[in-house]
Amino acid sequence: MKKQVTLLGATGSIGQSSLDVLQRHADQFSVFAVSAHSQWAKLLEICERFNPQYAVVADSVFDEARPAFADRVPKTTLLSGAKALVDMASHSEVDVVVAAIVGGAGLPSSYAAAKNGKRILLANKESLVMSGALFMQAAKESGAEVLPVDSEHNAIFQSLPDRWRATPQEGVSKIWLTGSGGPFRAYEGDWSTITPQQAVAHPNWSMGAKISVDSATMMNKGLEFLEACHLFNVGAEFIEVLVHPESVIHSMAAYVDGSVIAQMGNPDMRTPIAHCLAWPDRIDAGVAPLNLADIAQLNFEKPNYDRFPCLQVAIEAAKQGGSYGIWINAANEIAVASFLNGEIRFDQIAGVVQSAFAQGSSVMPESIEQVLAIDEQARAWADSAIGAL
Ligand code: NAD
Ligand code: MG
Repeated sequence: MKKQVTLLGATGSIGQSSLDVLQRHADQFSVFAVSAHSQWAKLLEICERFNPQYAVVADSVFDEARPAFADRVPKTTLLSGAKALVDMASHSEVDVVVAAIVGGAGLPSSYAAAKNGKRILLANKESLVMSGALFMQAAKESGAEVLPVDSEHNAIFQSLPDRWRATPQEGVSKIWLTGSGGPFRAYEGDWSTITPQQAVAHPNWSMGAKISVDSATMMNKGLEFLEACHLFNVGAEFIEVLVHPESVIHSMAAYVDGSVIAQMGNPDMRTPIAHCLAWPDRIDAGVAPLNLADIAQLNFEKPNYDRFPCLQVAIEAAKQGGSYGIWINAANEIAVASFLNGEIRFDQIAGVVQSAFAQGSSVMPESIEQVLAIDEQARAWADSAIGAL
């Protein structure tokens, strides 16, 4: 029996890499549902290639998309809106959900997969940043498998002992979370004139615009710090960030006997995607073999928190718990969108995130509805904070 896969965010960077791996293993996996937001024409092409039973687009483009879908992929049922994403993530015929929507918009559907016992290939790190404890608890209760697609977390997952989930931390002394440092790691120019084009030009990875800007501010590493705390059930003191410009080591686990286990590979998201699809087996990902002799040198340095205040704020949010993660995540999303639209400067993003942190509280939200309500409040707050800049 082929595994039935719902791919949320099919038109994005992770979505495209996932389709590439799925196509290589069409004998094992069948694409059940795909989603996009506004790029319905790109989704239509995906449907022509993969013949899913369902496709989901945003409500705002449904009427425009419907005739072309009816004409060209009559066997694919076109749906729209946030509830349809939740339905596709929790559908009884679905085994695997690839959660590759960007931002807080991905939470309701990835949470639905967690509640419904799916294997979740979690790319949407914002889900865990916003609701980590609730999310992991829901997965535990339903028997869902939360497998990290984020390359660092996938590396940590591979480097920790198999029995980690039964007895966390046994024998392990530290998690090293590595990061390239982004395009401005050693930048000497004027931070106030950085353009969106400069900010999205990541040296090693090709990714969507939002995560690329997050990498440039190192907010991405901060979000990943929070993500790691929840995924691996550890406190902030257990994780250390290490800058590694080549992105060959994707993260590491240090053991009490002095061993350090790292996962390495070329920077290509098809590796973690294939790993999660096949786990605990292995399948070909189409990724070029790692040639260390050609790379010749791997470098490491401590993160510069003065240069990248977003990283510091996110680590503080991990230490405090409560709603801090929701506040900084929402404010960051609004600030990044404003920067990409030319409304604020690159160097203003961190200020918005820092001010949002001050709005957070250490009271833990008790339900996803509460998480989404705080998220909405934080977005409104960020909109007006940016308006007042
Ligand atoms: P992307 O911008 O390339 O794609 C985003 C996808 O989400 C698109 O399919 C888009 O249609 C959909 N989408 C956007 N807004 C939506 C909304 N409001 N409702 C429903 N769907 C919406 O992003 P990406 O780079 O593929 O990243 C996706 C997620 O994976 C992010 O959470 C990111 O942090 C994470 N991630 C990405 C990479 C990478 O290499 N790209 C690596 C690690 C983690
Ligand atoms: Mg990552």
